[in-house]
Amino acid sequence: MRMVLLGAPGSGKGTQADLLKDKYRCAHISTGDIFRRNLSEKTELGVKAGEFMNRGELVPDELVIGMVKDRLREPDASAGFLMDGFPRTIPQAEAFGAMLDELKTPLDAVVLLDIDEEILVKRLTNRRTCRACGKIWNLLSIKAENKTVCPECAGELYQRDDDAEAVIRNRLKVYHDQTSPLVSWYAKIGKLYTIEASSSPDETMAKIQAALG
Ligand code: ADP
Ligand code: ZN
Repeated sequence: MRMVLLGAPGSGKGTQADLLKDKYRCAHISTGDIFRRNLSEKTELGVKAGEFMNRGELVPDELVIGMVKDRLREPDASAGFLMDGFPRTIPQAEAFGAMLDELKTPLDAVVLLDIDEEILVKRLTNRRTCRACGKIWNLLSIKAENKTVCPECAGELYQRDDDAEAVIRNRLKVYHDQTSPLVSWYAKIGKLYTIEASSSPDETMAKIQAALG
């Protein structure tokens, strides 16, 4: 399976990719995760990208494109991939198309996770990540009294720097301006599946699988 997950911040791309990668046995490639890892390791790429990320802006295309090109050449990607957070601009989509042509591995599907904007803001302000196992949680759906640790592994839960409300608003604006044009771009190619994504992670995954057949 070679799939792109498209959708606004908070639409559930990372959660769905995590669920789907076990089913399709392919690589989960999250450009946001790669940047965050580089940032915490203080690599040159991470330091450059961090400036843009903390303002809710996009990292410049040339940095992202070079990074994805390298990542696609790693052995696990030959079994297929779930692209989470890339492409995010028309130039990225053009460069991605050229990479796939060169590798002779066409895309199977582009899945658009479609969701109401007010739900997005609620999801993002309540989003927490486990420092130990990496799982993504929503504070509102944690039933335990102690909401500072991971319900699964008791690791520390933290909030991403770019999930502060002011930064969230900017990320949504950037999505509308720069990323949403990709919807009609991929619709023209005829591989776009639009999935209503406000239900639970498992229900949304079931809808994706039903749509792909
Ligand atoms: P979300 O989809 O919730 O906004 P991501 O983890 O995908 O979160 O991305 C976090 C940040 O990383 C983005 O706001 C942006 O600054 C940067 N980033 C990730 N992917 C890309 C990309 N393809 N192009 C440019 N910037 C990116
Ligand atoms: Zn955990």
